Amino acid sequence: MKTTKNCKHCYQLFEARRSNHLYCTTSCKTKASYKRNGYQYVSGHYKKAGDKSKVNGLNIANQIEGQIVKSEKKQKESSLNIKDIKNSAAGTLIADASIYSLKKVFAPNTLPATKGDIESLKKEILSLKTLLTMKK
Ligand SMILES: [Zn+2]
Repeated sequence: MKTTKNCKHCYQLFEARRSNHLYCTTSCKTKASYKRNGYQYVSGHYKKAGDKSKVNGLNIANQIEGQIVKSEKKQKESSLNIKDIKNSAAGTLIADASIYSLKKVFAPNTLPATKGDIESLKKEILSLKTLLTMKK
């Protein structure tokens, strides 16, 4: 028995070969399932949203904030670790590298980044997050 119904995803009319068919194509079925499970379409592919927040920019800001906290922790640890100067230097290098890449995202005109930039970067992210939270 053939019935015509509207696709649950794109709302286009389609001929359902089975009464339990809800979507016009498998592509619509997949997209609908992504939508249900909170996936986001990011640069050509679907990505599971880690945060409950639907604001993608806020997710990125949270991720970067986490990275800054991590690199700060790394710097603290490395400065305390006087025993192994080699490791200390490597730790600082890694922390500096991550700050450098963050700086590249937020302020590409002011390279290279220094440790002193962390505080201002944090403020920037905080204001960015506030902005994104308000924008609804
Ligand atoms: Zn469809």
